[in-house]
Amino acid sequence: MSADYPSYVGLWRSGQLQQRAEQAIGALSDCTLCPRQCHADRLQEPPRGAYCRTGRLAVVSSAFPHHGEEDCLRGYNGSGTIFFCHCNLRCVFCQNFDISWEACGRPLDARGLARLMLRLQDAGCHNINFVTPSHVVAQILEALVIAVEQGLRLPLVYNTGGYDRAETLRLLDGVFDIYMPDLKFLDPAAAKLYFNAEDYPQVACEAIREMHRQVGVLELDHTGLARRGVLVRHLVMPGYLEDTRRVMRFLAQEISPDTFVNVMAQYHPAGYARRYPPLDRPLSLAECRQALHIAREEGLHRFARD
Ligand code: SF4
Repeated sequence: MSADYPSYVGLWRSGQLQQRAEQAIGALSDCTLCPRQCHADRLQEPPRGAYCRTGRLAVVSSAFPHHGEEDCLRGYNGSGTIFFCHCNLRCVFCQNFDISWEACGRPLDARGLARLMLRLQDAGCHNINFVTPSHVVAQILEALVIAVEQGLRLPLVYNTGGYDRAETLRLLDGVFDIYMPDLKFLDPAAAKLYFNAEDYPQVACEAIREMHRQVGVLELDHTGLARRGVLVRHLVMPGYLEDTRRVMRFLAQEISPDTFVNVMAQYHPAGYARRYPPLDRPLSLAECRQALHIAREEGLHRFARD
C-alpha cells in the first residue's frame, strides 16, 4: 500500500489487475482454484461436481458495515463486509451455517458486486471485507476492476477459512492488503472428520506462509486501524486445547512471534455439531483462559480484541 492508495490501484493502472481477472475467470471452466481441485466446469449451470456449489456468479448473502469484527477492522464506521454463500470447506460446526450450507442469498454479476463495494465505501466503512472468498476469487477480481475504475480506494480484507491454494493466492499478490485466515485444526484426523479435508493442516500452513510473504505481520495506523498484514483467527474448540497449542506454536515459530492473533472463545455448537462430541458443547471458561495462556506460553504477544 502506498501512502495514498491501496496496492491494487497500481496493479489496475498497469493493466495487471485486468489480466489477473481474465486469467482467473478463464480458470472457471476447469476449476482448480482451491485445494479441492474439482476440475468442474463452473460456466455451466448447475456447476456439476463443484464442491463449492458455485457457478459463474458469486452468490451474496449480505453486505453491510459490520461493527462486530476486530477493533482494528471495524474502527468507528464499521468494516464493509460482503458475505458470500457456499464454502469450499463446509465445517460441520459452521458458525454461519445458514450462509455456508443453506446458501440464502442472491447471485450477483461483476457490476452488482462492484456496486456493493462502492456502496460500502460511500457508507464510510474502513475497508471491504470479503467473507469466505476462496471459491469466488475470480468473481471478486472481475468486480474489482470495475469498482476501482469507478473510484474504490479502500483496503481489501481476505477473510478466509484458510483452505486456499498458494498458487491462487499468488494471483492476489498486491491485490489484498490484509489477509485474515482462520487456522482451525492442525490434526489431520480432525480436519477429515469435521470438514472432509485431511490435507487442511498442510494447505492452511502453506497458505499462511504465502500470505505472510506478501504482506508481513499486521501493521496498524496511528488510529489503530489495520493498514496491511496478516491477522490470524483461531476458534478455540471444546476438548481440543492440544490442537490450539499446535496452532500457536506454528504461528510463533514458523511465521513470526509478532503475528497478530485473535484467540476466539465464542464457539457454540451450530450446524451438525451436536452429532460430533466433544463439539456438542460450548467452550468452558477454563478452556477460554487456558487457550490464551497457551498462546502466550508459545511466544505470541499480539492479540486482537473482538
Ligand atoms: S473453487 Fe469450487 S469448484 Fe473450484 S476447486 Fe474449489 S471447490 Fe472445486
